[in-house]
Amino acid sequence: MRRPYVAGNWKMNLDRRGARDLAAAVRERADGAPVDVALFPPFVYLSDVAELLRGSTVVAGAQDASAEAEGAFTGEVSAAMVADVGARAALAGHSERRHIFGEDDALVGRKLARILAAGLQGLLCVGETLEERQAGDTERVVAAQLRAGLSGVPAAQLGNVCIAYEPVWAIGTGHTATPEQAGEVHSYLRGVLSGLYDAPAAERLRILYGGSVKPDNVQDLMAVPDIDGALVGGASLDPHSFLAIVEFGK
Ligand code: PEP
Repeated sequence: MRRPYVAGNWKMNLDRRGARDLAAAVRERADGAPVDVALFPPFVYLSDVAELLRGSTVVAGAQDASAEAEGAFTGEVSAAMVADVGARAALAGHSERRHIFGEDDALVGRKLARILAAGLQGLLCVGETLEERQAGDTERVVAAQLRAGLSGVPAAQLGNVCIAYEPVWAIGTGHTATPEQAGEVHSYLRGVLSGLYDAPAAERLRILYGGSVKPDNVQDLMAVPDIDGALVGGASLDPHSFLAIVEFGK
């Protein structure tokens, strides 16, 4: 039985006061929920949010982490630094990192390896563009992203990994994948994971769906057996809508 997981990606939004207020509101209602909950604020507020969530079951995470360990990499933040401020998770390969900042599959794999080496949970994001879907390339694209992303992850570290399937055409667009579309890709990904590791490991691994998840569509998505939770962007900025999504966690 996989424990449901709802994560909020705040992207480059909010100010310090807004980040603190939102974290406090989520903590108040989601602490102890039968669903794992994580919040991913901008780096500069990570320390504040981690501190506010300390002692609760809600965890703070980073939206990204460097593929390098330390040194002369201006502007980068290492996974060890993320862990040092009390955060417990980090995203790797969010589609905005891949498509706006040009991160390729190999770089995402190196980032995930650093995230896990720092003792953090890693959320590996995969997803196809609209053109790739229309060309019938969805499975090839997500399988390549999964293989490269996990290339440095031995089976022993898999317990610290979650996958997020986020079709690029559904992120921030209001066009959610239907439960059928998402379910097809989730079960395909589980099959690929089973080949990369083994069937029990693939069964244990959580695969979240992301892409315009809202309180009014989360229930149908979560009803799909292979969908284990949600990575939420826009709707995570409002405590009422984010908490409504948390409450629909299976
Ligand atoms: C995301 O940023 O991961 C995301 C899914 O965004 P949204 O929910 O706004 O589509």
